[in-house]
Amino acid sequence: MDLSRFPRRRYSHAPTPIERLPHFTAALAAQCPAGHRPEIWIKRDDMLGLFPGGNKTRKLEFLVADALAQGADTLVTCGAPQSNHCRITLSAAVKEGLRCRFVIEERVPHSFREDASGNHFLFRLMGVESMRVVPAGTDMAAEMQREVEALAGEGRKGYAIPGGGSNAIGGLGYVACVQELMAQSLDMGVRFDHVIVGSGSSGTHGGMLAGFVGHRYDATLTGIGVSRDPQDQVPLVLKEAQAVHDLLGTGVQVPVEAVRCVGGYWQPKYSVPNARMVEATQWLARTEGVILDPVYTGKIMAGLIGLAREGHFRDGEQVLFMHTGGLPGVFAYERELLGQVEMAP
Ligand SMILES: *Cc1c(COP(=O)(O)O)cnc(C)c1O
Repeated sequence: MDLSRFPRRRYSHAPTPIERLPHFTAALAAQCPAGHRPEIWIKRDDMLGLFPGGNKTRKLEFLVADALAQGADTLVTCGAPQSNHCRITLSAAVKEGLRCRFVIEERVPHSFREDASGNHFLFRLMGVESMRVVPAGTDMAAEMQREVEALAGEGRKGYAIPGGGSNAIGGLGYVACVQELMAQSLDMGVRFDHVIVGSGSSGTHGGMLAGFVGHRYDATLTGIGVSRDPQDQVPLVLKEAQAVHDLLGTGVQVPVEAVRCVGGYWQPKYSVPNARMVEATQWLARTEGVILDPVYTGKIMAGLIGLAREGHFRDGEQVLFMHTGGLPGVFAYERELLGQVEMAP
């Protein structure tokens, strides 16, 4: 899969590290059935550029390059009140000398607060041009189009980036990640049996799946849903992976059987903390000093832990957890992460 004919900006200096998690692996093994004790590794996509980066940085390398190629002067995007994607898009805009506007979807009623910390604080610190808040269920593509039209009325040129940066162009970032992972695997002499990744707007899971299928990489890719159960998530991931192949013109049909999604761990609702997320986040912090986030990676790691406890992995299998970022989120959920708030299991 040749990505070189697509324009790309570079926001990170090196491949993100792949590290062993020895203390966590030992603690987890003690809770797994005999014969089902895997070794756990982590790929540090929380250390991508546009600090503190995360998975959106990889997608934006291709999306922003496309915006620049089209002569845009303003990036328009959308997300939740604590959106990592909005923060990283703004960061890319600042770095490129572009302006940036958000449409914020209040998925949880009254969750937008002018004085909020975390990503919201960083929106203000990095000087977002505007944030328009709309209620849950709003047609975000139509709202972003309105912003682009308003900009055109002022003689400016906006470029709309869909939620999470998840379209065919954004997905190229995670094809590139698969190529990086394959090179690292070869260098390190480690063969991964499983890769565990978050599955939300699906550019990450779908982009990786496109790469796995296109390169015949034979590890098992499993997406842990952060906002949907498999019946709703599988079609999104399949659509994204296929869109990436269509853009690349490979002629590959991505088979639906290749899409593996796990549900449940995101409950009771997208972005609302649960006890399993808190357990996973405290566990990683206290065994490895690795900080997960409450909205995504804490729930995704809870999924990995749950699968391991059920005996899903076998002795000697190498399991790679994709740390997709989200660090600022911890500062918006401090009491929850310290276990000082009642919450759903
Ligand atoms: C956006 C995000 C995800 C989910 O990635 P998608 O490409 O939207 O599926 C996972 N982890 C973090 C930290 C994110 O910000």
